[in-house]
Amino acid sequence: MADDFDAIVVGAGMAGCASAIRLAKGGANVLLLERGSEPGAKNLSGGVLWGHDLDAILPNWWHEMPVERHIVRKRFGFLTGDRALSLDFEDGDWRKEPFVGHSVLRARTDAWLAQQAEAAGATVVASVPVDRLNWDGTRVRGVVQGGETMTAPVTILADGANSRLSLGTPIRPEPHLKPEATELGIKEVFRLDPAVIEDRFQVGPGEGHAEEWVTGMFPPGVLGGGFLYTNRDTLSLGLIVNLASLYDRGVYSTELIEQFKLHPAIASRLKGAELVEYGAKLISTGWASRPAAFHGDGWMIAGDAAGFVYSNGLVIQGMNYAIRTGLLAAETALEAKGAGDATVARLAAYDRRLGETGVLGDFKDFQRLDQVKWNPRFYTAYPKFVTELFHAMMTETGAPKQKMSRLAKEARKSAGVSMTRLLRDGVELYRSA
Ligand SMILES: Cc1cc2nc3c(=O)[nH]c(=O)nc-3n(C[C@H](O)[C@H](O)[C@H](O)COP(=O)(O)OP(=O)(O)OC[C@H]3O[C@@H](n4cnc5c(N)ncnc54)[C@H](O)[C@@H]3O)c2cc1C
Repeated sequence: MADDFDAIVVGAGMAGCASAIRLAKGGANVLLLERGSEPGAKNLSGGVLWGHDLDAILPNWWHEMPVERHIVRKRFGFLTGDRALSLDFEDGDWRKEPFVGHSVLRARTDAWLAQQAEAAGATVVASVPVDRLNWDGTRVRGVVQGGETMTAPVTILADGANSRLSLGTPIRPEPHLKPEATELGIKEVFRLDPAVIEDRFQVGPGEGHAEEWVTGMFPPGVLGGGFLYTNRDTLSLGLIVNLASLYDRGVYSTELIEQFKLHPAIASRLKGAELVEYGAKLISTGWASRPAAFHGDGWMIAGDAAGFVYSNGLVIQGMNYAIRTGLLAAETALEAKGAGDATVARLAAYDRRLGETGVLGDFKDFQRLDQVKWNPRFYTAYPKFVTELFHAMMTETGAPKQKMSRLAKEARKSAGVSMTRLLRDGVELYRSA
């Protein structure tokens, strides 16, 4: 019996939309299914989009897509009690077209991307929570929703971090995500006048500022960091917290974000801003969160569903990998359509592409960092050490001056970290990063 479509894509996030656009532009009859009331309704990112992968399907996308601001500065720093220490990075190249990073709000970008898929000829249907894959032995032949089966020789799973379609199946035999490879993202959006944003963050019209903080102020054992990004007329603020570190501590994520917002360095940026949105979402990061395979008979898995989120404590990048892997899956599906063969052997070209484009390397090569970055001392002792040291160096008290080596020793002692431990952690971080 003939199939209903050439390909079915589940999930209209960055991965699914990119995939559907490429498939439709390549002449495939593609169905894109989204469980939200509209594409983007359920999606959440910080988020800074490094979107050059979109060039392949949407030239000049940054002029047409409803992005917020192009990022011209990144700040990275440490927050403790009421102290903040940070470093700014500005790059002249970031001010020139094609801009490299943009702050985005997913409700806008994903809705627009889904429209591009539709314009290219894809059938996009929202409010369809796909129940399961349609397994025919070891082969996937489309999806099942509400008792109805929709068939295609190729199904692309782009259903995000908590990929219900793959969990508990041969794709991901475990029924749940691994807490040690999962992070919790919490985000709030605040409305603020664009002129105030530009004045407060020292950026021009259309320009954006992004900052990421290692937060040494959470209850002991809770590991995480915060971010603040400027949008057109809003600020996106949030936390990324190690999920395993939240277990059994009786700490609510809402308490953590309140603590973050009350820090003087953050509170001053939020002055006069009005909370308009909030949300939380799981993020499966790094090589440890990969599925059992990236392809099989009749299926491929892309984006967050495949664990393609790179997060090293300084940056979180998932949207770019979602777009890239969605496109690679689409290329492979088009090739399979041409050959009239969507078997596991044919779809192995997807893994080959993941390898050739560096995606697999980006995750395999940084496996050690995925563990090292959650060293508890990075979130307690070291933020305390550096902020104590700067406090001692920068505060004039009238007391006799001390040599830097002595100040560093005292700050280190007060943070409770030995020189040997500091050196070992430094070397381990350097080697893994
Ligand atoms: C707080 C936070 C901050 C982040 N910051 C950044 C950042 O600054 N930069 C960056 O690049 N990345 C960031 N990320 C990661 C980024 O959001 C993800 O990597 C990206 O959204 C992955 O895209 P995706 O298309 O794979 O999945 P998603 O965006 O999650 O899309 C999956 C889609 O599938 C749909 N779906 C799920 N199940 C079904 C079903 N059964 N049937 C039909 N539809 C279904 C969902 O509704 C959704 O639309 C952040 C994430 C969080 C949570």
